[in-house]
Amino acid sequence: MEGTRIYLDNAATTPVLVEVMEAMLPFYKEMFGNPSSIHKEGRQVRMAIEGARKTVAKGINASLSEVFFTSCATEANNMVIKNAIRDAGVTRIISSPTEHHCVLHTLEAAQRDFGVKVDMLKLDNKGRPSLSHLKEMLIHCADKTLVSLMHANNETGLKIDLQAISALCEEYGALLHSDTVQTIGRFPLDVQILKIHFLSGSAHKFHGPKGVGFVYINSDVSLLPYIDGGAQERNMRSGTENVAGIVGMAKALELALEGMDERKSHITSLRSYLATELKKHFPTIRVISDLEGDSLYTVLSVGFPKGGQADLLTMHLDIEGVAVSGGSACSSGADKGSHVMEAMFPDDDFNVVRFSFSHLNTKEEVDFAIGKLVKIIDN
Ligand code: PLP
Repeated sequence: MEGTRIYLDNAATTPVLVEVMEAMLPFYKEMFGNPSSIHKEGRQVRMAIEGARKTVAKGINASLSEVFFTSCATEANNMVIKNAIRDAGVTRIISSPTEHHCVLHTLEAAQRDFGVKVDMLKLDNKGRPSLSHLKEMLIHCADKTLVSLMHANNETGLKIDLQAISALCEEYGALLHSDTVQTIGRFPLDVQILKIHFLSGSAHKFHGPKGVGFVYINSDVSLLPYIDGGAQERNMRSGTENVAGIVGMAKALELALEGMDERKSHITSLRSYLATELKKHFPTIRVISDLEGDSLYTVLSVGFPKGGQADLLTMHLDIEGVAVSGGSACSSGADKGSHVMEAMFPDDDFNVVRFSFSHLNTKEEVDFAIGKLVKIIDN
């Protein structure tokens, strides 16, 4: 098994599926036209983009005119937050300290540049943004409010009750945005049932290519262009489209939706097997993910007590051939610890390892990772 690499960091990114690559290839070869051109070469590429829009819109039960392609989810989240302030009269944003940095740093910029009020929700006993605190905040609020909460946390896998949050937002007249990057393709998402105003997705989290994402903007909310230029994406987001990326994203989403139940049951069993084995070998660990509740089944976040080989665990695992993350990919490798763990456990400090799965992982790979962990920690 010399040179074996086991990839258990699928919350950071997922491998592109062969079927996805095959769907993309023609757009690097014979189908190279500019989708804005009116000749045949352009028109056939335009058709592919609109076909992809149909797939994405159908996947979340939106209208075609409510889906806009972006370069990534970071861009989609920036677009929603900044444009909701500029164009929809939002003067206050309610969010949580455990959001992804692409939301938290956008909120900081919005406060600084537009003077909006930003209020952070307390966390409940599991570490999710508190629903009762949200209600309290919405009751005592006269400002036009945007609630921005991620559907599932990328570091812990904790998932919010988006339907209940949406009901509160509807009752108190707030707009609702959710970063659904980790849940698109993993849970059914229906914007009509959810009654949500904005959501975002990113292809590379569901076995599509990097550098392409999308934003859903409910047609009742009218936002103006985010990037000015040649009026692509119905003038919301100018710039020649990432055609192959868009086609690849749609293919990846289609496969994720078709295989959702099967993938879910395979991944869930891998996660619970790993959790059981970890508890058996290391009884003092703290399981941060919510294994019993409704959670993001792809993520198992575990805290190991500090000291000995458990420090620098992610680095030791990497050397042994196992790719995992210590919190989020954005903070791992940097000196600063995870802002999510800081918000959840201000008084506790342990070494957090995030194992995150895809349907491509196997039980043998999990056994390999456990073997390496035992070797590292017992040494
Ligand atoms: N939101 C969440 C929850 C994520 O996990 C990530 C990626 O790590 C992002 C947003 C950013 O996505 P992108 O890489 O498409 O900008």
